[in-house]
Amino acid sequence: MSQQAKKPGGIGIPGILKGLATTARTMSKPAHTAEYPDAPPHLPPRSRGVIALLEENCTSCMLCARECPDWCIYIDSHKETIPATTPGGRERQRNVLDRFAIDFSLCMYCGICIEVCPFDALHWSPEFEYAELDIRDLLHEKDRLGQWMPTVPPPSALDEHSAEAAEIGATTRPGRLVRTTPARPPASRATPAGQQAESAPDTAPETPPETAPETGE
Ligand code: SF4
Ligand code: SF4
Repeated sequence: MSQQAKKPGGIGIPGILKGLATTARTMSKPAHTAEYPDAPPHLPPRSRGVIALLEENCTSCMLCARECPDWCIYIDSHKETIPATTPGGRERQRNVLDRFAIDFSLCMYCGICIEVCPFDALHWSPEFEYAELDIRDLLHEKDRLGQWMPTVPPPSALDEHSAEAAEIGATTRPGRLVRTTPARPPASRATPAGQQAESAPDTAPETPPETAPETGE
């Protein structure tokens, strides 16, 4: 005997009919779901979509590559000699970035490379539309990483009640006051009236010689 949904004290309606009625009712209403790619998703501005590279800031220090847990950052560089700018000055050397690539098929988007970069050369971009049919095409070189820089959102404003940045405070603070009064003369021993005061000795008084501890015998 089939189970039927019965209202207490009323005529029983099969559950299938109730379901069909609900379907018919909602069919005529507009859909509430917005499906990608017809509708772009509303992502938070700080979403971890892809890592962008600001090449001018990169000094090829290799810190990000060393800290990356997946070893998916590849950096090549060479040294360049900069001639001295003044006569008799010393020439300097600097690193020139030849290659900077990230393999996004290995990257786990932990953000460690961005955190450790001391020169703000790496940034999160919310851009996520870089899927490829071939996994090998997810290895992106510095030119492609640089193209994502314009999609990096600007840093958020400081909280209005936050403390002033130390650098700003240091530049606006008045300089230290320079002591103009002469320093106090060195302390002199008390002398009888009419005699010349004897100045304190320059060296510390001799310490008494060490004596052997008493044994009590
Ligand atoms: S986000 Fe993490 S895994 Fe990806 S490149 Fe940076 S350090 Fe490596
Ligand atoms: S991105 Fe940053 S941490 Fe990585 S090599 Fe360049 S300067 Fe160093």
